[in-house]
Amino acid sequence: MEPFDYRRPGDAATAVRTVAADPSAVFLGGGTNLVDHLKLGVRTPGLVVDVTSLTSAEITDHNGGLRIGAAVRNSDLAADRRVRERYPVLAQALLAGASGQLRNMATTGGNPLQRTRCVYFQDVTTPCNKRSPGSGCSAIGGYTRHHAVLGASPECIATHPSDLAVALTALDAEVQVLGPDGERTLGFGDLHRLPGDRPDRDTVLEHGELITAIDLPEVPIARNSAYRKVRDRASYAFALVSVAAALRVESGIVRDSRIAFGGVAHKPWRASRAEEVLLDAPATEATYREAAEAELAGAVAVDGIDGGNGFKIPLLANTLAATLRDLTREAK
Ligand SMILES: Cc1cc2nc3c(=O)[nH]c(=O)nc-3n(C[C@H](O)[C@H](O)[C@H](O)COP(=O)(O)OP(=O)(O)OC[C@H]3O[C@@H](n4cnc5c(N)ncnc54)[C@H](O)[C@@H]3O)c2cc1C
Ligand code: SF4
Repeated sequence: MEPFDYRRPGDAATAVRTVAADPSAVFLGGGTNLVDHLKLGVRTPGLVVDVTSLTSAEITDHNGGLRIGAAVRNSDLAADRRVRERYPVLAQALLAGASGQLRNMATTGGNPLQRTRCVYFQDVTTPCNKRSPGSGCSAIGGYTRHHAVLGASPECIATHPSDLAVALTALDAEVQVLGPDGERTLGFGDLHRLPGDRPDRDTVLEHGELITAIDLPEVPIARNSAYRKVRDRASYAFALVSVAAALRVESGIVRDSRIAFGGVAHKPWRASRAEEVLLDAPATEATYREAAEAELAGAVAVDGIDGGNGFKIPLLANTLAATLRDLTREAK
């Protein structure tokens, strides 16, 4: 590991000014992703600024919804009674991720900002445009089983790994950000980027911007919501595909839905086309298949030495249909 300085400022504004002033500085949350990258040499910051005690570790009622402080641990968020009752998709997404020990450390601010699990990104001996811009993409023509089928670019076909972020996208959450020029609010769906020609940038955050909280709006249909994750092992594995969905069915007709996909794109993928197909349509298997087909019309499989990732397209369609079927039974 390369040596670095460590600081724990007294308040969030000082932490933001400190990181913004030093291009080599990074924030430290629970450290479950960053510390691995320090050990692997994927990241070599000159300064690590610990923010775990600088933002709220509370979940508070807020405008009919909830405000989740950035320092709230993933375990505490999953266990919160209000989250389990009003946003089950969120609790399920959290519990589908990592392990109990990791969730005890991982924070609400750090989880959505964890980096891709692309094996080449984590192997500093291989070219990777995300880690080392302009060096090339080793995944194209390499191992692609875990890579993107939606929104990829010739520069990068990586997927975003967070389960929590998929649920937050479906729930239309908002991100509270503190930067050197003050505070701003971002729609969660606008936080992450598609790779385009800048795969080194995962999000729209500027250097030095700190996530201070995440707000959940009041989403009544989220009481009937679920997270379904398909992976190579039953636990301790990242999603091949995942679906976060909320559904309202009245008299056999879909009246509202919220859907997002994980494991298939460089960002959590809001399935707006699927939602459009579902609106005011019969709550049937045929409609659910049509919604999946509409959303996946632009999906592109990538060949690979491991057989490629084409299997993800029908797998995701099946996973969406299964999730909606379950929610239909509960909503009737
Ligand atoms: C073996 C293993 C299995 C895992 N499985 C899963 C899984 O199945 N699903 C899943 O979703 N995750 C999984 N994870 C990832 C884990 O959930 C993340 O590592 C964790 O959520 C990151 O949160 P953290 O607080 O530890 O972030 P850190 O590691 O501290 O930071 C992550 C990034 O966010 C930045 N950062 C941290 N806090 C802030 C803030 N407040 N504002 C701005 N930037 C900030 C850091 O600079 C860093 O770039 C797994 C991890 C491991 C090691
Ligand atoms: S897919 Fe992205 S992260 Fe993976 S090697 Fe290519 S550029 Fe790097």
